[in-house]
Amino acid sequence: MIHRRVGLGLTAKTLGMTLLILALIIGVTAIMSRAFERLHDQVDTLTSTEMENLMTSVRLVQQAESLNSLGFGLSVANNHTERRQALINLTDRTLWVNQLTDRLAQQGGNPDLINQVRETQAQLQSNIAELNELVSQRIDTGRQAGLERQIRALSHNNRELAGQLAILMGYFSATMRQQMVMQSEQLAAEINVQQRNLIALALLLLVFALLAGVYFEVVVVRRILQMQRNVSAPVVDVDAFDTHGGDEISSLAKTVRSYVQRIQYQEARMREAHQELTFLAEHDVLTGLANRRHFQAAARRLLRQSYQPLCVAIGDIDHFKKVNDRFGHATGDQVLIEVSRQLSEGLRESDILARFGGEEFAIILTTGSLEAGYQVLDKLRSLIAEKPFLSSQKHEIHLSMSFGVALVDATVLQSETDDQLTESLLDAALHAADKALYDAKRQGRNMVALAPKTVYAQAI
Ligand code: GH3
Ligand code: MG
Ligand code: MG
Repeated sequence: MIHRRVGLGLTAKTLGMTLLILALIIGVTAIMSRAFERLHDQVDTLTSTEMENLMTSVRLVQQAESLNSLGFGLSVANNHTERRQALINLTDRTLWVNQLTDRLAQQGGNPDLINQVRETQAQLQSNIAELNELVSQRIDTGRQAGLERQIRALSHNNRELAGQLAILMGYFSATMRQQMVMQSEQLAAEINVQQRNLIALALLLLVFALLAGVYFEVVVVRRILQMQRNVSAPVVDVDAFDTHGGDEISSLAKTVRSYVQRIQYQEARMREAHQELTFLAEHDVLTGLANRRHFQAAARRLLRQSYQPLCVAIGDIDHFKKVNDRFGHATGDQVLIEVSRQLSEGLRESDILARFGGEEFAIILTTGSLEAGYQVLDKLRSLIAEKPFLSSQKHEIHLSMSFGVALVDATVLQSETDDQLTESLLDAALHAADKALYDAKRQGRNMVALAPKTVYAQAI
């Protein structure tokens, strides 16, 4: 299955996962940023507006008190210069007080309270104007008991008004302070909520990260490890690869499986070729019997391992040249194959049979005595001689075979005995068998001739 790349070389699934994580991170950041903005605004309001209001009300208290002392200054002025100076200061303070009151009104101070402050101020202002009049009269006309009384009464009234203003502003400050306490409590509650939100979001991210980790473990890591275990097993089981599903890991598993299958196929072919080569190196192609080299190796092993004497024989087809000459080389080959079959059928598993070259065969019989070996070979000889060979061209070919056999006693050899000694013993035994074969040929063929002496390892 081919996975379409949708962007930046990523597959749809990977891109989807990446976008989801990005969206989550951006979402959390946006939510937190908004929450902090709100907190920031609240702190701003608290510090700028509310603080300002509180400061303004405190300043108003101070101004009201100085109005009181300035009023007293006006009431005791002795000339117009002093009076005007006191009046300028008073007007200046009054303007200030008006401005501060306006500011409080703009910033949403308690309207009832603001109205009371305004009324008090207005009264204070009209009192000051009246006082100014009276003081001016007194300067111009001199001190009179009636005027002085009026001035004292007004001054007293001014003091009371200024005091009233200070009380109002004090009350105002207290309200402001209470409001600020409430707001800071709200702010603390809000911060608590945001803190909990932040923890919840952090937990959400943590859970998501854990889920992503588990997903990655199950979907990717485990399957790759499983694949690695499959590949590194001594014998790779191709059915163990999980190729179901359509994701990248499944297609990787498919690729690895087909790669393993190819390797296994090549291995099997190499094993077969190796077996074939090994067989060819040790066997004769025509008859399938062991060749001389393989015979030598197997014979040496048998000699070393045997706890009883063995018979070493050489068999040779009589007048084989004539078979070739009369019926052709191909028929000669058929004869060689048939004789090989008859010989191997007549021998035991533990015996060794090899084509030694041409129409000559070497045999080792695990019979233990020369007489027993003779029996086996003579039986084979008579079988071959009795039944003529029927060629593929329907020619009846009468065959016979001669054998020379020698008894070899290798029982003194140990398995670890020198190779050279074993080799020499085998050569001596083959030589004795060959000599006996020569005797058989000389005495008229179609017979089994025995070597006169046993070949002993000690004699070598
Ligand atoms: P003897 O009884 O004295 O053994 O006579 P012989 O004719 O069997 O002996 P000789 O050694 O004179 O002849 C052996 C012949 O075997 C000669 C050779 O052409 C033939 N020969 C050797 N190898 C093969 C083979 O693989 N196929 C065939 N068809 N003939 C072979
Ligand atoms: Mg021959
Ligand atoms: Mg020969």
